[in-house]
Amino acid sequence: MRANINYNHLKESYLFSEIARRVSNFSKIHPETEIIRMGIGDVTLPLCSSVVEAMKQAAEDMGKADSFHGYGPEQGYDFLRERIQAYYAENDVALELSEIFVSDGAKSDLGNILDLFDKENTVLIPDPVYPVYVDTNLMDGRKIIFADANENNGFLPLPDDSVLADIIYICSPNNPTGAVYNREQLKLWVEYALRNHAVILFDAAYESFIVDKDLPRSIFEIDGAKKCAIEFCSLSKTAGFTGTRCGYTVVPQTLEFDGIQLNHMWLRRQTTKFNGVSYIVQKGAEAVFTKDGREQIKENIAYYRKNAKIITSALDKLGIWYTGGKNSPYIWLRCPNGMDSWTFFDMLLSEIGVVGTPGAGFGKNGEKFFRLTAFSTNENTAKAMEKLRLLLEKDDGYHQFF
Ligand SMILES: *Cc1c(COP(=O)(O)O)cnc(C)c1O
Repeated sequence: MRANINYNHLKESYLFSEIARRVSNFSKIHPETEIIRMGIGDVTLPLCSSVVEAMKQAAEDMGKADSFHGYGPEQGYDFLRERIQAYYAENDVALELSEIFVSDGAKSDLGNILDLFDKENTVLIPDPVYPVYVDTNLMDGRKIIFADANENNGFLPLPDDSVLADIIYICSPNNPTGAVYNREQLKLWVEYALRNHAVILFDAAYESFIVDKDLPRSIFEIDGAKKCAIEFCSLSKTAGFTGTRCGYTVVPQTLEFDGIQLNHMWLRRQTTKFNGVSYIVQKGAEAVFTKDGREQIKENIAYYRKNAKIITSALDKLGIWYTGGKNSPYIWLRCPNGMDSWTFFDMLLSEIGVVGTPGAGFGKNGEKFFRLTAFSTNENTAKAMEKLRLLLEKDDGYHQFF
């Protein structure tokens, strides 16, 4: 037996363990300092009552012979897929049921979709980036080219025809930068993909955070995208499903490469290798799309949005450059005074007990940037931003931040 030695090319993902280590060391020495966590990418509000009730009912169904469910369709029950279809229709995206695949979340599908592509393909990935895109391709040994996202392009890189790629990752609204592509910019990517016979893997995990009516929530709002894109979506951030697990992926029937329909390949792949999502969880997911569920989820997102607003207002007052926060739960800021992101991390931790995520953990272009998240309480977010303001406004000759 030979092992897949591509795994040797993976870098230790030490970002969150390193953060935990530094916080724990600090707390040991300063047990009196209150730590405010503004770095996690996990939701903090519980499931809404519509979802909980639906899952209780589904558990009851499973306990009765006439409503018991055994093996279900791997691509998801129609009751949920029809809801997803109707949800897309609200944005004038017409999907066939067969184009919608229910899954246990976007991360799994983003990794598993690579089964459909040759290992000789070249992949284009923005930097900074959600690490899953990089690692899943390294595991297959695919060649990766990075597209620089930086202050000059507002952390929204655009296609460059001198760079040829077969598989393109786009995440909008973005994690970690919170930046969102507009219609014209996405159109450029779709045109590039069509011209170069490439496929776009569009990560829409944060679409429900978009408030700006002009911003696209789905790549399929762009003409031609159904011939070049696959979209990954998740209820994790939308409805607090990070522990419950449910997402969905849209693979258009019109996507064809080498005479093979990717939709058929994906169906074949999923029915062979994926067990589907449990009936109980799919019933909970269905409730997310009901009138009551929609309203309850909106309240949760509004709560996070308030945190984002508290953060961006503080940064505006301090004159700190950032992206995100408006249509995204993430705020990506430039560290003051050209500081590198780990130095800024240590400073925030030691001086005010606030924990964020150093940009360097997401790629080389994150070196002098820092991610704050809206996944906290309103009280703690306000407290953290007040501490940040006092810290950065201190003008004692030592704290020369600007
Ligand atoms: C959280 C997140 C997801 C969602 O992953 P799940 O597996 O559905 O929980 C996908 N993409 C990005 C960029 C994320 O931050």
